[in-house]
Amino acid sequence: MWGNPKKDPKTRQLILGVSETTFPHDGKWTMMGDTDHPFYFSDLGVKQITKSLTQKISKGHRPNSEARWDREYGTLPWEKHIWPSLGTDGITNPTDEKSSHKLLLRKLAVDNNDSRTPTNNCRICKNHVGSMSHHLICSGMEQPKQFATQLLLKVGVKRNSIHPSLTWLTCLNKKGKPLPNIAKAIIRLFRRVNYRHFVQVVTDKHAYNPDHVISDLARTLMARILSVQYGLQKFIISRRHTPLKKVLPPSINNQKKLGGIGKIDIHTGVLKIKKGLKRILINQEVWRDIYSKKKT
Ligand SMILES: [Zn+2]
Repeated sequence: MWGNPKKDPKTRQLILGVSETTFPHDGKWTMMGDTDHPFYFSDLGVKQITKSLTQKISKGHRPNSEARWDREYGTLPWEKHIWPSLGTDGITNPTDEKSSHKLLLRKLAVDNNDSRTPTNNCRICKNHVGSMSHHLICSGMEQPKQFATQLLLKVGVKRNSIHPSLTWLTCLNKKGKPLPNIAKAIIRLFRRVNYRHFVQVVTDKHAYNPDHVISDLARTLMARILSVQYGLQKFIISRRHTPLKKVLPPSINNQKKLGGIGKIDIHTGVLKIKKGLKRILINQEVWRDIYSKKKT
């Protein structure tokens, strides 16, 4: 997103603001326990994630998870679309992404593989074996999933292009094509937030409350959008008194990229969120206007 600070500033492609002012900090990150290869958060991109995953793959075998999922859903486009479509142009953070990998790699602890749970049955609906594929379609967790679906529709995803389980696993549409960044972000945030509530049923003895999952998801999405808006503002401000280009690239408004969230003014960096999406965030009482002078 920001480029490696060690690189020559001329070749460093500043796109979304000043790396020093961002949170999470740019420092050294590691991926999937690979402490031998730390990296800058700003270097985290599709390429880096793909490289990390394919490194493991090229070391001898493809992840067993691919074949396991393929057995349930038919051959999926792992190499062509699924691994390369990790990342969302900075809407999701590395932790959001990492929690998303767990399900793809079949490393998510659910009822039929978790020793902390007394039975193999799903802790939410109690009617089915609590497997990872059931986790994607459990009726007990349908309400938050419907809420996430509403969000997807508001950012332009067609209802009939959403596969009831595969889209929620892979972030691909029914035709097997990757969804726009904001849609992928919504699905990954839904999975992360929903899973947190799912885990708390066992760890904190909290009953699963669909309304709490929904407001938590709305709040998390608002926070991620605010951080994108902040980054865009920083970009413009940081360039004000420099000879560098003071406008954002028009391609930023591509619907598959940040433009999926709303309309970005390439001169001011102001990102106006799509109406339908804004209305949902207002209804959930999580709406915050970064551009408003009024103190909230
Ligand atoms: Zn269930």
